[in-house]
Amino acid sequence: MREHTFRVTVVGAGAAGTLTATRLLEAAHEAGARVALTLVDPAPGTGQGVAYATQDSRHLLNVPAGRMSGHPDRPDDFVRWLAGHGSRTVGAGEFAPRSAYGAYLAAGLDEAVARYGAGALRRVRERAVRLAGPDGDATQRIALSSGAVVDADAVVLALGAGAPGLGWVPGRLRGHQHFVSDPWRPGALDGVPADTDVLLVGTGLTACDLALSLARPGRTVHAVSRHGLVPYVHAGKPAASGPLPGPPAADLAGLRRWLAARAAYHRRVHGDWRPAVDELRPHTTALWQGLPATDRDRFLSEDLRLWEVLRHRLPPRTAAALDAARQSGQVSVRAGVVADAEPSPGGVRVSFTDGGTGCFGAVVNCTGAEASVRRSEDALVKDLLATGTARPGPHDLGLDTAPDGRLVAADGGARRPVWTLGSPRRGNLWETTAIPEIRVQAIQLADSLAKECSRIIR
Ligand SMILES: Cc1cc2nc3c(=O)[nH]c(=O)nc-3n(C[C@H](O)[C@H](O)[C@H](O)COP(=O)(O)OP(=O)(O)OC[C@H]3O[C@@H](n4cnc5c(N)ncnc54)[C@H](O)[C@@H]3O)c2cc1C
Repeated sequence: MREHTFRVTVVGAGAAGTLTATRLLEAAHEAGARVALTLVDPAPGTGQGVAYATQDSRHLLNVPAGRMSGHPDRPDDFVRWLAGHGSRTVGAGEFAPRSAYGAYLAAGLDEAVARYGAGALRRVRERAVRLAGPDGDATQRIALSSGAVVDADAVVLALGAGAPGLGWVPGRLRGHQHFVSDPWRPGALDGVPADTDVLLVGTGLTACDLALSLARPGRTVHAVSRHGLVPYVHAGKPAASGPLPGPPAADLAGLRRWLAARAAYHRRVHGDWRPAVDELRPHTTALWQGLPATDRDRFLSEDLRLWEVLRHRLPPRTAAALDAARQSGQVSVRAGVVADAEPSPGGVRVSFTDGGTGCFGAVVNCTGAEASVRRSEDALVKDLLATGTARPGPHDLGLDTAPDGRLVAADGGARRPVWTLGSPRRGNLWETTAIPEIRVQAIQLADSLAKECSRIIR
């Protein structure tokens, strides 16, 4: 046996990176292999990423606790962890605070380090800015923002969905002190003046959370989006969704008809349309991949907003708090498009395309991650595309990947030992942004890396 420690660098210490690292330590131990793991992310916390760093206890998971285990083979793991760490019992059907989930993921990694890999994990709090090393070379070199370099035999890019899109932002608003470009950056809302109205651009899950954080007597939080649609609420008592009765249609028109018919059926039988959406989830990737490219384009331009509010729903407690805030006038939601903005005393004067105007102490970008990877401002992503190490995924969504998550280079080859998971795979898989999918990908990826690692040392 050759003495060799397999060096794996995971870039991104959000949920995807943390779950991969946790399983890799365990799987390498099971395989009798030695792994040296470097986890790179400038964030102070581990396991939090964008979604779970919030410390506002009103920001809840939008998936019930019973479906948020990091381990698909132990579905009650998160609920059990909560019972030992939370201030109150959270049932499997309830929606826990998001901050608790970040703590759960970090605790899982700490436990794996203590059990399997003392000294095997190095946490580096920096940004990765470049991936170098000749194509095909076994060693990958990751350049960090400080100029330091990490060498690795395998790299996992757990980068998340990326920074919020800024395409809609008028020039005079960009960089303005009263513009919050990324509301999930820690401390992003600290500078919002206490006694002014606030404009949220976007009306999805992020806007709903921020409306609750910012609403108070004497202030109106205005949320606008092109459609003014707010996510639907989860059912208090979800009706069970079962296996699909036969394959849905293979084109968009057929799928629309099929979904409408299933919604009508569930409404008739269960009094609720939601199971029609939920029962599609295990099949979404196959449906996405089976659609002609023109139909996927049409879905993105014609159906996406509606699909998002049907599919990514509000926890009942969040919806009730939002309803109360809307009824009291502290929150208002409407369709509207920002046309321009200019500085005004104490804030920003915004004009809308319908001719309306308003003055706000802060304008907060709640439009979600930039859709097109070609517009990413992230140095590493720009480098990957510029060097041809990666190419955009279908419809410019994320990065193109082989079925095992390995990056596909500009020439169509997938040779480098560089993998990704979660949101960067959305062009290939579509349904890949939430824990029920990410945890499966993390385990598969970690297991195959551990196998590779034990093959190399033999
Ligand atoms: C507000 C919100 C709420 C959500 N709620 C839920 C929920 O309740 N349930 C659910 O299942 N899903 C939820 N999601 C989906 C969520 O995105 C996933 O569950 C999961 O957190 C994604 O984790 P990730 O690690 O892929 O991405 P992220 O959480 O975005 O983490 C990516 C990490 O990579 C780091 N990074 C990126 N680029 C670099 C670089 N170049 N160098 C170093 N580090 C880098 C970032 O700093 C970040 O910490 C929510 C998403 C959001 C935005």
